[in-house]
Amino acid sequence: MEHNPPSASPRFTITCQACGARVPAEPWAWRHACGGTLQLDVAVDAAQIRACRDNAARRLARFAPVLPLRHPPATTIGDTPLSFEEVDGIRVAFKLEYLNPGGSFKDRGAYVTVSRCAELGFDSIVVDSSGNAGVATAFMGRRLGLTVDVFLPASTPDGKKRLLRLLGATLHEVAGDRMTVHAAALDAVHGGAAYAGHWWQPYFAHGVKTMAYEVVEELGHIDMVFAPVGAGTVILGLHRGFAELHAAGLVATMPQLVAAQAAGFSPVCVELGIPSMQEQRSHLADAIAITDPPRKREMAAVVRLTGGFGVVVSDPDITAALRWLADRGYIVEPTSAVPVAALFKAMADSRVSPGSTVLIPLTGTGMKVLDELDEVVGASLHTPPMPPER
Ligand SMILES: [Zn+2]
Repeated sequence: MEHNPPSASPRFTITCQACGARVPAEPWAWRHACGGTLQLDVAVDAAQIRACRDNAARRLARFAPVLPLRHPPATTIGDTPLSFEEVDGIRVAFKLEYLNPGGSFKDRGAYVTVSRCAELGFDSIVVDSSGNAGVATAFMGRRLGLTVDVFLPASTPDGKKRLLRLLGATLHEVAGDRMTVHAAALDAVHGGAAYAGHWWQPYFAHGVKTMAYEVVEELGHIDMVFAPVGAGTVILGLHRGFAELHAAGLVATMPQLVAAQAAGFSPVCVELGIPSMQEQRSHLADAIAITDPPRKREMAAVVRLTGGFGVVVSDPDITAALRWLADRGYIVEPTSAVPVAALFKAMADSRVSPGSTVLIPLTGTGMKVLDELDEVVGASLHTPPMPPER
């Protein structure tokens, strides 16, 4: 059995982050036997990266030269637009990830994950999700002909559940927090199905990294990234993308990575020495309400490595940022406002240099959570828009 894709695809290796063991590319593995998380490294050079830009394939399929797949399928995912806002001398580049077909950036990770599971012959996938990863996996599963079981909190917004059912996923609603849901999914996995939860398996980050590739193609240089941080897929995926571009000489300096977390769910910021604000525990940031993600030390490490920092925001901060976004025509879910709230807080603390270009991925659509949005910002949206800052 071959252990690497043929020459049309890049070579890759999988390594345990805990014990350093090399893990074969086949069979499917989402965690090392020792319990450690896995890291997948694709051998990438400048020529391969340029080949992505010039590829005749469209959207995510054009990144075939840098993805750990044999045959990346045609897709409607990726190549989302950038939209710019000037905020007190800071240039903010919003990456409109919520315009992906499944309504979130998670489509990118699911594209690589589900394609890989299909390549390995699985016809069934089990994931746990707060909603968006489940939708993304169900969307890709439907496209490639795999059945998808999704474990999710019973409290998941109805719009996400309805979309999951529409896409043909089997829903398993679990009473309890996101950690409880994760444990229930692991208990349910048996032979024949691939457990593909994005907290653990190492393929997801390679889908998300394409966001960095697209941004660098369009902008060249950015100074900082504010990322919403829960399980770590955004910040670790972006770090992987920028690191590959940097190593290939296509990015002069790595952007500072800022971890934006919600009060009461800020284990990465705690790792970085920031108090948890437990008494102001967030009820709005449901997509990143994770108390103990497996990759929290990896996340803290990439923040430190890039000279970034962490910011913890409360529900009033998130509500104000949601309103600010809605006033400008960005209809996103509350979790997506977390990095915007974090930017405002960091600017107030003079932690963002004037003239900087700041990337913020707007991760998830508000269209799946209209009831929740109406509850949170509806009343204020019925009033006229706020005047511009200056
Ligand atoms: Zn290990």
